[in-house]
Amino acid sequence: MSEITSRVALVTGGSRGIGRAIAELLAGHGHQIAINYVSNEVAAAEAVAAIEAAGGTAIAVRGDVGDQEAVDALIKDVQDRLGPVEILVNNAGITRDDLLMRMRPEAWDDVMQTNLKSVYLCSRAVMRGMLRGRWGRIVSLSSVAGVYGNPGQANYAAAKAGIIGFTMSLAKEIGSRGITVNAVAPGFIATDMTAALGDDVATAAAEKITLGRLGLPEEVASAVGYLASEDASYITGQTIVVDGGLAL
Ligand code: NAP
Repeated sequence: MSEITSRVALVTGGSRGIGRAIAELLAGHGHQIAINYVSNEVAAAEAVAAIEAAGGTAIAVRGDVGDQEAVDALIKDVQDRLGPVEILVNNAGITRDDLLMRMRPEAWDDVMQTNLKSVYLCSRAVMRGMLRGRWGRIVSLSSVAGVYGNPGQANYAAAKAGIIGFTMSLAKEIGSRGITVNAVAPGFIATDMTAALGDDVATAAAEKITLGRLGLPEEVASAVGYLASEDASYITGQTIVVDGGLAL
């Protein structure tokens, strides 16, 4: 493993689930972590406390990543308190599942705004600093739904597929400046997002997964941590599927 330089990392939606596991892993790699969240202040404070208890540095930054003004304000806040963002993990995401026949325009717009527009807003907001520093890592959370589709998730799958196209395009735009842009596409991971679907859905999903179980947030975090590291310096524009063989 290459020697680790301490960087400033922003993890959107870093207060719970996969984002929290990513924040803790990056803190363990010696980076200073900004944990973004939108409403659950208690969870964000717990995530910060866990990193501090392990000897790391973390701050919580509130803000809706789908809102331009909020993004500009939160990026400035991170820059003022820790320095320019060198590692951006676009992790914040929501679901508003429904069959397309019944899907209301708000369910489409909310998912597009939080899951896709956020990636554009946050990436654009941190790019200038990365270009100036001639080093950067942008890793975004897609989903197997964005690669293979999923009934009841046309909005979510469209946003997650959009992230893959965005990732390849931005990688081509800024690759010559030492910035890599990649995505990770998880399968069925045990978090609040999937717990909301109920035990029956989880049991049925586990039967379709080659490894026979749901994934853990830490198992997604390790792929993100790799892509954010010096070791992944020659990987860009890629989407790594982390799904326990679900899509095989
Ligand atoms: P989760 O447990 O529901 O946590 C979502 C996180 O995002 C929370 O920290 C939440 O903050 C934050 N968030 C939501 N809307 C936000 C907004 N507008 N602005 C800022 N933060 C916001 O989700 P998860 O399961 O860990 O999923 C994380 C990512 O992985 C998502 O992009 C998801 O689509 C993707 N993914 C998950 C799975 C899975 O099986 N779990 C599979 C494939 C892809 P608050 O606590 O303040 O609400």
